[in-house]
Amino acid sequence: MLPQPKPGIMNIDIYVPGKSRAPAGVKLHKLSSNENPLGPSPKARQAIIDSASHPELYPDGSASALKEAIARAHAINPENIVCGNGSDEILSMVGQAFLEPGDEVVFTEHGFLVYRIVAHSCSAVPVVVKETDECADVDAILAAVTDRTRIIFLANPNNPTGTYLPIDEVRRLQAGLPGNVILVLDGAYAEYVRRNDYESGIELISSCNNVIMTRTFSKIHGLAALRVGWCYAPRRIVEILERVRGPFNVNGTALAAGVAAIQDRGHMERAIEHNDKWLARLTQAYGEMGLRVTPSVGNFLLVHFPDEPGRTASDADAFLTGKGLILRAVTGYGFPNALRMTVGTEEANTAVIEALGAFMAKPDNL
Ligand SMILES: *Cc1c(COP(=O)(O)O)cnc(C)c1O
Repeated sequence: MLPQPKPGIMNIDIYVPGKSRAPAGVKLHKLSSNENPLGPSPKARQAIIDSASHPELYPDGSASALKEAIARAHAINPENIVCGNGSDEILSMVGQAFLEPGDEVVFTEHGFLVYRIVAHSCSAVPVVVKETDECADVDAILAAVTDRTRIIFLANPNNPTGTYLPIDEVRRLQAGLPGNVILVLDGAYAEYVRRNDYESGIELISSCNNVIMTRTFSKIHGLAALRVGWCYAPRRIVEILERVRGPFNVNGTALAAGVAAIQDRGHMERAIEHNDKWLARLTQAYGEMGLRVTPSVGNFLLVHFPDEPGRTASDADAFLTGKGLILRAVTGYGFPNALRMTVGTEEANTAVIEALGAFMAKPDNL
């Protein structure tokens, strides 16, 4: 007899991160993981350096300073916050705390891959719901809810599509759920959205007992390497998550950098402004080349390629990689003929526009 994992574990496709390699001698532009092209706030960088002087000390397990800083930035109560080793860890904690074998976890067909991993790791059943026009569909989600449903995961905006649900639709979704079903609103890209009908869900959480919002320092704050995220949740859910959380789950460097990053509003504004400008320019440039782009409100765009030998997404991926431009293949997300591109630096964006222009204009099969 060999040791056997729990049911579901072997159904997990191991998560493959965005590539980060280019041919030797070519300058690399990594546009495959939605990282911040401006990097973190200089104040966060300094906090990282300062934090290196006492690695022998355990970090503050309750993450008090970080919760205080987040609470101030968002005008919420620190007692409603849980911090995690990236928001991925929060998603896992929610599964660990609330899922029993055979329970159902609902998410949409192009939803973030981690949701499926969370479901399988808890021996729960992933229930995948169709989207409409590459966007989550509230009626379809509600129709998938059964008496075994425990969690709905909804990234808003979603990765890799970049599409979003207006807050009225999110409210309608919550209103249609039984009280024992948790709605997890994954706001990894919330800061980037510039739409009047969008809200991350903070107010909904203040008035409902079954909604959780997760957020991350990996994207707008440029701290992906440090692994720090958090959630805002009703008190009862916080008390449950605090029981399954590792005692020192967020390291001391991440805590210090997070505090500095969230206090630097100016740096965030610059990152948002840079993104706004280039998201629009890239969308327009690709449209002019005849490439369809899913309308995105995030810091990335999903570019669809022609179904034509020599001009498919994998041809484009190989062509771009040869020039050191690393985008993300998204076959695992149900898009075999698209690539996801992170909005990069001016230099990187200009290089991709130029390279894709050449790729689309070249004679067939060259
Ligand atoms: C990047 C991303 C996250 C963030 O994960 P971290 O663990 O905080 O780095 C969460 N959800 C979605 C949809 C993402 O794209």
